[in-house]
Amino acid sequence: MVSDDEYTWAEPMTADFVDEMMIAGLGSENLEAYQDFVDVHTSKKVPLDIESMWAVMGLAAEAGEVLAEFEKGIRKDDFETRREAILEELGDVLWYAAALCNAYDTTLEEVMVNNCRKLEQRVSN
Ligand SMILES: [Mg+2]
Repeated sequence: MVSDDEYTWAEPMTADFVDEMMIAGLGSENLEAYQDFVDVHTSKKVPLDIESMWAVMGLAAEAGEVLAEFEKGIRKDDFETRREAILEELGDVLWYAAALCNAYDTTLEEVMVNNCRKLEQRVSN
């Protein structure tokens, strides 16, 4: 069991968040910079099982939030006005996907490339 003293949670994001994102070059599809940014703003020195569990729970929760926005779109027969909310939740999904990559010491890029290879094989077979 890990004591509370062993957890070193990153400082909460500040108003400098957007500036940091721009410095990291996130406007230019820089996945590595994004992943580093996620790393800075998430847990530190947390055992892998806890860090990965936290990331998986966040990923599932945020995927559920995407689903909830779609449900609202169906219920209100209005997907156009839900677009912004859906994309916002998708960003949260990306955040936790990056955090999970960090927990497993891999990169979003590696996951993306491997996924493309898997899909390519599926199509060619
Ligand atoms: Mg969310």
